[in-house]
Amino acid sequence: MDMTEAINVIADAAVRLSCKALFNAKLSDCTTIKIGGTVPLLINVNSVDSLTCLLKLIKIYGVTFMVIGNGSNLLFDDKEHSFIILRMNGDFAEIKVNGEFLDCAPGAMLSSVCRVAARRSLSGLEQLFGIPGSIGGAVFMNAGAYGREISDVIDSVTTINADGVTKTYSAAECLFSYRESVFIHNREIITHIRLKLTRGKSDIIKSQMESYTARRKEKQPLEFPSAGSAFKRPKGAYASALIDECGLKGLSVGGAMVSEKHAGFIINTGNATFADVLSLMKKIIGIVELQTGFKLEPEPIIVSDNILKI
Ligand SMILES: Cc1cc2nc3c(=O)[nH]c(=O)nc-3n(C[C@H](O)[C@H](O)[C@H](O)COP(=O)(O)OP(=O)(O)OC[C@H]3O[C@@H](n4cnc5c(N)ncnc54)[C@H](O)[C@@H]3O)c2cc1C
Repeated sequence: MDMTEAINVIADAAVRLSCKALFNAKLSDCTTIKIGGTVPLLINVNSVDSLTCLLKLIKIYGVTFMVIGNGSNLLFDDKEHSFIILRMNGDFAEIKVNGEFLDCAPGAMLSSVCRVAARRSLSGLEQLFGIPGSIGGAVFMNAGAYGREISDVIDSVTTINADGVTKTYSAAECLFSYRESVFIHNREIITHIRLKLTRGKSDIIKSQMESYTARRKEKQPLEFPSAGSAFKRPKGAYASALIDECGLKGLSVGGAMVSEKHAGFIINTGNATFADVLSLMKKIIGIVELQTGFKLEPEPIIVSDNILKI
């Protein structure tokens, strides 16, 4: 069976499992930076059972796949990719409250999880409100802001691998550190996240969430497409401060530009291509290293030539 037939079989199965399936999907529609070519098939996964069935077929037919959440930390090459996408988003997004625990499906948006916690007077996620990703994506990257990381509130994480084997990790087994987790390396798919929060006061939690949102709006160029911070924080410095210090605000390549509002963001001013962003990143890395001695590393996951480079 050739690849096109295999993809048709997988798409048929997805539809039978009531998952939405889209042929020749544009990745620019699935990423917050609005850049990326196409994939032959994108499936919105709706449950663990559907995912398990799809993984079986994917294995049988030897199709390459990638999992995404809300696409807010991804930079795809703008070519025709040959892998298919399993997207964990609003169709796989249940959030259940069990005392001080929140049980979340991976596609739940982090902001929705924060809202549920606030309504139930559960504290611990306030600083993360406003990060525009799924909880699965947040765990994968150990997302964090304002001194808080998702790892601070993880009780356990359950995954499934490409062979259909499931595993539950304690927080310690997730090997979290700054923008790091075991999942970046083992490529398992996160299917369930259990958070452990603490009792607080709903109105205080809500007002803290609002104040963090206001800080984001004031400091970040949220009016432009981006993938968030373009670079990780190097040890002993802040990427945005180094870029600013080197006078790089406003530097652009094609449609990609260092935000005038926040030097740590590369924004898509309209028609930025993958090559524009990559070339701008390389320029920034070169200049910052030359002028400050710090070597910056990209924060978004760069997907090019069917391989993942972090
Ligand atoms: C305006 C803006 C502000 C941001 N602010 C912050 C911030 O303050 N702090 C911060 O840390 N980040 C920030 N980000 C980056 C981003 O929102 C986070 O990294 C977020 O957690 C990514 O989640 P996602 O669902 O969008 O993941 P995606 O971008 O879809 O995927 C990212 C990676 O996670 C993997 N992945 C996603 N879901 C799963 C899953 N279920 N199982 C296994 N792997 C999975 C993907 O394969 C991919 O490698 C910001 C981004 C933007 C655009």
